[in-house]
Amino acid sequence: MSSNRSIIQRAYKTELDLNHAQTTACRRHAGVARWAYNWGLARKQSAYRATGASPSAIDLHRELNSLKQTVVPWMYEVSKCAPQEALRNLDSAFANFFRRARLKREGKWHGQLGYPQRKTRKRGLGSFRLTGSIVVFPDAIQLPRLGRLRLKEQNYLPTSGAKILSATVKEQAGHWYVALLVEQEQHAPANSGPVVGVDLGVKSLATLSDGTVIPNPRPLRRRLKKLKRLQRAVSRKRKGSQNRKKAVRCLAQLHRHIAQQRANTLHQFTSRLAKTKSVVVIEDLNVSGMLKNHHLAQAISDVGFAEFRRQLIYKAAWYGSQVMVASRWEPSSKICSGCGAVKAELTLSERVYRCETCGLTLDRDLNAAVNLANLAS
Ligand SMILES: [Zn+2]
Repeated sequence: MSSNRSIIQRAYKTELDLNHAQTTACRRHAGVARWAYNWGLARKQSAYRATGASPSAIDLHRELNSLKQTVVPWMYEVSKCAPQEALRNLDSAFANFFRRARLKREGKWHGQLGYPQRKTRKRGLGSFRLTGSIVVFPDAIQLPRLGRLRLKEQNYLPTSGAKILSATVKEQAGHWYVALLVEQEQHAPANSGPVVGVDLGVKSLATLSDGTVIPNPRPLRRRLKKLKRLQRAVSRKRKGSQNRKKAVRCLAQLHRHIAQQRANTLHQFTSRLAKTKSVVVIEDLNVSGMLKNHHLAQAISDVGFAEFRRQLIYKAAWYGSQVMVASRWEPSSKICSGCGAVKAELTLSERVYRCETCGLTLDRDLNAAVNLANLAS
C-alpha cells in the first residue's frame, strides 16, 4: 500500500491547571451554557405546543440576544459563544432524537430514543464550547474571555500545522479539561503489516487470527461491588447534607476511574492494531440488539464494542491501515476456517469448534477470527 494524505478532524483532550479566578470564570461559562440550553429546550417545547413548529438555534440565539439587555444581563460576563454553542448542541440533540425515532420505526434501532433532557447541576457543572480566537502554547491555551489557561501536560496540544475549530471546556469530578477540535493534514505512512481478523469477545476482550488473545480487564465488573456500595451510601444520606455531598463526590471519582481505565485499554489495543496491521477485519456487531440479552449486556457495555470500532476506524486513517467491517450476516463463527464447511447449529456455550467434515478442532473465537481474516484475502 502507498502512503496517502488526507484532511482529518481530530480532538485532543487534556487537563487544565486553573487558579481560583479561572475556575470561577469557567463555572460561570458552564452555568450560562446550561441556562441557555434549558431555556432553549423550554422555548422549543412551548413553541411546538403552540404552533407545531420549533425554532432553530439561530432563531433562539436572536431571541436570547434581545433578552440579554433586560432579563439576563449577567450573560455579558461570559463569551457570547457559550450560549450560542449550547443552542447548537440543543439542535443536534433534537436531530439525533429524530434520527433514532426514524430508525426505530424502520426497526433498526432498539435502544432508548433519548428525548433531550434539561441539564441539571446534579450531573456535574457541565461544559461549554468556544470558537473564534484560540491560541495554543506549549504549556497553555488562550481562549476568548478566559485568557491564558495553563495545561497540566506540556506539548500535547498541536501548536502548528492544525486549524483550530473549537475548544470545549468540561468539568469532571472536580477536574477541568479542554478538548480541542482541529483539522489537520494527515500523512499516513505506508503500512506493510499483516492482515488480521479480530473477534471481539465477552470472556476475553478479543482474539486475533494470529492466535493472540487480549485479556479483558473488566474494570466495571471488578469495581461493581464498590460502585453498588457507594450508591447505597449516597441514598442513605440525608438530601442536602454535607455527608451526602461527600458521598456523591466519591461516587463520581469512581465513575471517572472506571471510564479512564476502560478508555486506556481500548486505546492501547486499537493503537497497536492500527500501527502494526495493514488490514483489520472486524465484525459488524449488532450491539443494541445484543444488549437486550442481560447476561451479555454488562460485559459488552463494559468492554465498549462501539467505542472499539470508532477508535479503530479513526486510528487506521492515521497509521495507514485499512478496516474492513464484515456483514453481521456473515456466519464467521459457524464456518470451518480449514475447509469452509458451515455448521447448522453452534450454541454460545460451545467454546471449541469441531468440524465434522475435516476434523479441525480449535478455539471457537480463534476460528471466527481466522474466518474474518480470510474475508480480506
Ligand atoms: Zn472443516
